[in-house]
Amino acid sequence: MSKIIEPLRGVHDVLPAQITAWQHLERITREVFAGYGYEEFRVPVIEQTQLFKRSIGDFTDIVEKEMFSFVDQGDDHITLRPEATAGIVRAVISNGMLREGRLRVWCMGPMFRRERPQAGRYRQFHQIDAEAFGFEGPDVDAEIILLSARLLRRLGLNKLKLLVNSLGTPASRAAYREQLTAYFNAHEAALDADSKRRLAGNPLRILDSKNPDMQRLIAGAPLLLDCLDAESRTHFESLCAHLRSAGIEYHVEPHLVRGLDYYTRTIFEWTTDALGSQSTVCAGGRYDGLVAQLGGASTPGIGWAMGQERIVMLLEKQGLGPQRAHPQVYLVLAGERTEIAAFQLAEQLRDAWPQLQLQINLGGGSFKTQFKRADKSGAQFAILLGDDEVARGVVAVKALRQEMAQEECPIAQISERLGVLLGLKGG
Ligand code: ATP
Ligand code: MG
Repeated sequence: MSKIIEPLRGVHDVLPAQITAWQHLERITREVFAGYGYEEFRVPVIEQTQLFKRSIGDFTDIVEKEMFSFVDQGDDHITLRPEATAGIVRAVISNGMLREGRLRVWCMGPMFRRERPQAGRYRQFHQIDAEAFGFEGPDVDAEIILLSARLLRRLGLNKLKLLVNSLGTPASRAAYREQLTAYFNAHEAALDADSKRRLAGNPLRILDSKNPDMQRLIAGAPLLLDCLDAESRTHFESLCAHLRSAGIEYHVEPHLVRGLDYYTRTIFEWTTDALGSQSTVCAGGRYDGLVAQLGGASTPGIGWAMGQERIVMLLEKQGLGPQRAHPQVYLVLAGERTEIAAFQLAEQLRDAWPQLQLQINLGGGSFKTQFKRADKSGAQFAILLGDDEVARGVVAVKALRQEMAQEECPIAQISERLGVLLGLKGG
């Protein structure tokens, strides 16, 4: 026998038995975005490497060490997208979608980062992503946060904590950067290797360190909120007022920064204490300079990304755990001449009831074997077609989960009968 091929590290299969929570999340996501007038957008999984280098920032974990990049046979430098915003910005520019100046979109799909795999941290993972372009005021900051809050609430995730902060304008950030550099220079001996490197390149990144040994030093660092320019301060206060009037509880977290460099002003995160150190389930912020930085007309933007695996883990903890979708009806067919009749019957029933979930027995087997399969499928009813039934123009109906005498039904009436038994509507 030849050797089996293992999956790549940090890459997971979502098994049919696990799909319920995913589908639930996806369905609620579609509903909530539609409720706010956001349109779905699908953009490529591969982009030019340059796109991410130019937007995410040189001293970020992503660009420093996490991108899956390669040169293809035509000498194109390609990267599997590590996040969605850069690709969406590229796409709205490429497609001239900002001509009217405004756009609200969302997308969902796989992202790739070559991280150290752990629970809640993978190399292929999935994000739900919201982006709004063309709105400068704090109203859109409030809207996009309310949207995330509603989505989490609709999913029944009520124990999450919202952290907010403002990074100000590039100018106020430059002033802060000087203070921060002075502070970390004075404590250089206490910095880990990553932070030392970042001190020269981008000291703000030190605040995002995941190293527990660095947390005390970070806690004592100067606060960006103290360097905020007047306009950013008003913007931030107005957002906070919006959140209060919407009854959204939030915590101002002055050391919050993001893992990507393009953010300006508002940033936020939803965190949980139920997932150990992988505590952030949704994160985002404003990126007013990014569209221009990537060659588009200067347009403000704001967005967030939600980690689907982490949300699914929370849903499973709440009991929306592994469960299998099952057919409503299992069609048992026995006898030489029943196969064609059974396929015809199955197609007729699916025509009659577009929402009917019917599984037909494949691969033959005795009645006994087929009834065992019917039972195992989880179906509520088995319908049975044998040579004798075909000859007499009838079908036998047997309930698998409730007390009900087996009945015989003329083939012309089985569709209607199933409609009644299963409470099917329309047709
Ligand atoms: P972290 O601080 O956990 O590394 P990040 O700042 O790199 O997160 P973002 O780029 O803001 O994360 O991504 C938004 C969300 O996507 C995260 O809050 C998380 O829920 C999810 N996420 C990010 N990276 C991963 C990963 N490798 N595996 C699973 N989910 C992830
Ligand atoms: Mg990260």
